[in-house]
Amino acid sequence: MRIVSNIAAMQTLALRWKRAGLRIGFVPTMGYLHAGHLSLVQRARRTVGKNGVVVVSIYVNPTQFGPKEDFSKYPRDLEHDLKLCRAAGVDVVFTPGDKEMYPRWGESLSSLEIKTIKRLGSTESRPTIFSTYIIEETLSQTMEGASRPTHFRGVTTVVAKLFNLVLPDVAVFGTKDWQQAAIIKRMVSDLNFPVSIIVAPTLRERDGLAMSSRNKYLVGNLRSQATVLWCAIQLARVTIKKSKAFPAAKLKAALKKLIECEPDAKLDYVEFFEPDTLLPVSKATHGTHMALAVFIGKTRLIDNSEL
Ligand code: AMP
Repeated sequence: MRIVSNIAAMQTLALRWKRAGLRIGFVPTMGYLHAGHLSLVQRARRTVGKNGVVVVSIYVNPTQFGPKEDFSKYPRDLEHDLKLCRAAGVDVVFTPGDKEMYPRWGESLSSLEIKTIKRLGSTESRPTIFSTYIIEETLSQTMEGASRPTHFRGVTTVVAKLFNLVLPDVAVFGTKDWQQAAIIKRMVSDLNFPVSIIVAPTLRERDGLAMSSRNKYLVGNLRSQATVLWCAIQLARVTIKKSKAFPAAKLKAALKKLIECEPDAKLDYVEFFEPDTLLPVSKATHGTHMALAVFIGKTRLIDNSEL
C-alpha cells in the first residue's frame, strides 16, 4: 500500500494508471475509519476488480466545518487508519495537507489583503487566498444545508478537487449522508464529471446506532441515549406501516417528543421528503425518506432511512 500526501504526485500517479487503462475506485473519507468506511472500500474493490486500483483519501476538510464546529477536535488516528486500509487491500491512501489543498488557509492575511478581498465583494468571515467554490443551489437548501450554511459548499468543493486529483472511474459514498450523496450526484451530472457514483448502505452497531467517527464523543450514558435516533426511525416506520399516509407535521411532533425524553437529546431537525428531489412531503407514506439530526449532549448525530 502506498501513502501519497503530495497532490501533484497523486495526480501524476492517477494519470499513469489512466494511460495504463486501469480502473480507479475512490472512497473519500475524513479518517478515523470504522467498519462503515471499510464497507465502502470493499464495494469499490468489487466494482473495479482485482486489476483495478482502490484509493482512499483521508482528509479532514476545513471548508466544510462552520466556525463554531468541531474541526480542530475532529477525531484523527492516521496510524490506525493506515492499518485498517492495509488489511482491507487498499492500494493508495491519499492524505493531502491543508497547505496544498487550500493555499494560505488559516494564515492571517495582512489587513490590507483583507480590506482588498472584502472590497472585491467577499462576504467570507475568514478570508483566504483560496476563492473558487462549487455551490449546488437546490438540494443543499434544506436539512444539513439549513443547519450548517457553508457545509455543502465545502463538501462539493473538496470532492471536486479530490476527483481532479484521483481521477476516479467510480467513487463510493455512504447512504449515511443521504443529502450529501444526492448533492454529489447532482454536481457530477450538472458539471459532467466522468465518474460514476455508487451509494452504499449504512453500517450500524448492534443496537442500531449508525457507525460514525463522531460516536467517539459519546462517553458515559450519552452512548446509550444515542440509540434514540434509531428508535425514532423505527417509530416512523411502524407509524407508516399502520396508517399508510400520515401527516408529516404530526409525525415530526411525535418523534420530537420521543427523542427529547432522553435527558441530553435535542432535536435539530427531522424531515420527510422525496428521496431523489429531497422535496418535503406533507404526508409521509411508503417510499418517503426521512432524515434527522439530533444533539446528544454536544455531539450532533445524523441518520436517515426509507420508510
Ligand atoms: P466521513 O469520514 O464521515 O466523511 O465519511 C466518509 C464516507 O463514509 C461518506 O461517504 C459517508 O457517508 C460514509 N459513511 C459514514 N458512516 C458510514 C456508515 N455507518 N456506513 C456506511 N458508510 C458510512
